[in-house]
Amino acid sequence: MSAPATPGCRNLPVLRERGQREVFCGLTGIVWLHRRLQDAFFLVVGSRTCAHLIQSAAGVMIFAEPRFGTAILDERDLAGLADANEELDRVVAELLARRPDIRMLFLVGSCPSEVIKLDLRRAAERLGEVHRGVRIVNYSGSGIETTFTEGEDACLAALVPHCPAPTEERPRLLVVGTVADVVEDQFRRLFEAMGIGPVDWLPPRRTDQLPPIGPGTRILAAQPFIAETLRALEARGAALLSAPYPLGAEGSEAWLAAAARAWDVPTARFQDVVAAPAARARKAVSAHRERLEGRRIFFFPDSQLELPLARFLQDECGMQAVEVGTPYLHKGLMAAELPRLAGVQLSEGQDVERQLDRCRAAAPDLTVCGLGLANPLEAEGLTTKWAIELVFSPIHGFEQAGDLAELFTRPLTRRARLEV
Ligand code: SF4
Repeated sequence: MSAPATPGCRNLPVLRERGQREVFCGLTGIVWLHRRLQDAFFLVVGSRTCAHLIQSAAGVMIFAEPRFGTAILDERDLAGLADANEELDRVVAELLARRPDIRMLFLVGSCPSEVIKLDLRRAAERLGEVHRGVRIVNYSGSGIETTFTEGEDACLAALVPHCPAPTEERPRLLVVGTVADVVEDQFRRLFEAMGIGPVDWLPPRRTDQLPPIGPGTRILAAQPFIAETLRALEARGAALLSAPYPLGAEGSEAWLAAAARAWDVPTARFQDVVAAPAARARKAVSAHRERLEGRRIFFFPDSQLELPLARFLQDECGMQAVEVGTPYLHKGLMAAELPRLAGVQLSEGQDVERQLDRCRAAAPDLTVCGLGLANPLEAEGLTTKWAIELVFSPIHGFEQAGDLAELFTRPLTRRARLEV
């Protein structure tokens, strides 16, 4: 079923669709969150399906000692809630005895009915009393409540109450959304060179580095899928700096410029710091431009990164966005992106069959979609890019701009080879 399109400030209305969706659930976020939060463990309270999902999603991407697992509550536990709670307590006790390195344990809710009946918030409190020294936090990654990247949002929002109040009044910059460690290091150096700071990160690398939050906190969003977290941070007095996302040379420069304005960095100093990395980024992107220029791209809604990616591909690579679908359109978090996409057909939500029809009719050169749609579309002759790779790969910042462009040239090159 489609809701009527609503006209906005842009010259094309946003097509709002509510129908069958074809996306992963929020458990997927564990795949990148466990790599970032290096002393945390993610315990999915779920079924064999949940265990299978994160195992297969993470499968080839685990480089570290696994920091996630599943407490499987299957049919056995339907007998009684007490059994399920006991089973959970047993699994947690065993895990913490085996892994004394765990400093924070996330109990991640899922959608099997056995789990829905459990009150994981109370379980986290109860277990926190027993296992002192380990912080036990709960959030939901259930497919009923969350899609794909919303799992990270739920996780970060659950962390906010654990963040301390600042001990001093001076402003602090808070970068929100998981980025690769190498990306954090690069941005840190740039902020430092401009005299911007102190700078905190949510999520941090270690759970003892949870950032102080208060009225002096200025938020710079590194990822667009943080709506709940933003609400929780704003409730603590933090304020969002409006900026596009740091994708590509221009996106990264504009993102840094938003912080520079808030910290009154003189223009000359800003230019001094960003000129060289921005030039490197432009050069790296231009190496891919020839293959991308003039090509038409279609985004199915998946990661919530679709709008900033489309802006990058359009402005810096010369691609033409046919339709840009996104699961949710948060006007505040997209305020700096929307004007840059004037004239592009945006769609919010999904009615997958209708969208597939539009995609086939448009016959784009490249289609960005979830794993479930990629194979059938490839079989129909369309060239696809898995949206999930864009979340797993380091794509933010100047030094990654070339790699980001390459993620889009690769499927086109592969298809061209197949055709030869
Ligand atoms: S949380 Fe729900 S949608 Fe996700 S894997 Fe488990 S059962 Fe499937």
